[in-house]
Amino acid sequence: MLTLKLDDIPDEGLELKWKEEPTALSGYLESLSEIDFQFENPLQSEAKIRRMGESVLIQGRVHTVLQLRCVRCLKEFSYPLASGFELTLHPLKGGAIEEETELSGKDLESNFFEGGEIHLSEIACEQVFLEIPMQPLCQEVCKGLCPDCGKDLNLSTCDCTKKELELEFSVLKKLKLH
Ligand SMILES: [Zn+2]
Ligand SMILES: [Zn+2]
Repeated sequence: MLTLKLDDIPDEGLELKWKEEPTALSGYLESLSEIDFQFENPLQSEAKIRRMGESVLIQGRVHTVLQLRCVRCLKEFSYPLASGFELTLHPLKGGAIEEETELSGKDLESNFFEGGEIHLSEIACEQVFLEIPMQPLCQEVCKGLCPDCGKDLNLSTCDCTKKELELEFSVLKKLKLH
């Protein structure tokens, strides 16, 4: 996990490029219970870091390949991800947000750092989390599993929906007759 000390950022700023193996991140990811995915490739990040008074501006990019689970067919699939981001980090002193950095509008996107340390790996991971779809799909047109027989409808069809349609159709026919 890459951590940068505020004092190590020169006045002209800093450009960093780093790569982390999934195993190096597993300890951090395991501490987040809501995470339901795997890194398939290393997480590659780059960032331009500049001090802006007491705050720190980070412009960066992350890219990797994740393994997600499709919400329809429950199969795991590879999900390439690349995203740019820009963040302003404000110092958090004594656990309280300073008056002058009062949250308002755009500043809601802001983050904080504590103890003069910036946890770059965590920031990169958070950018990855933000890019994960709420409802991951292996393909836009994934047909999912049949709710009745559980067959993967991408691989084969089953008779359940056909039967249902026929049933509805016969009901309609009956309704029309009466
Ligand atoms: Zn699917
Ligand atoms: Zn079925």
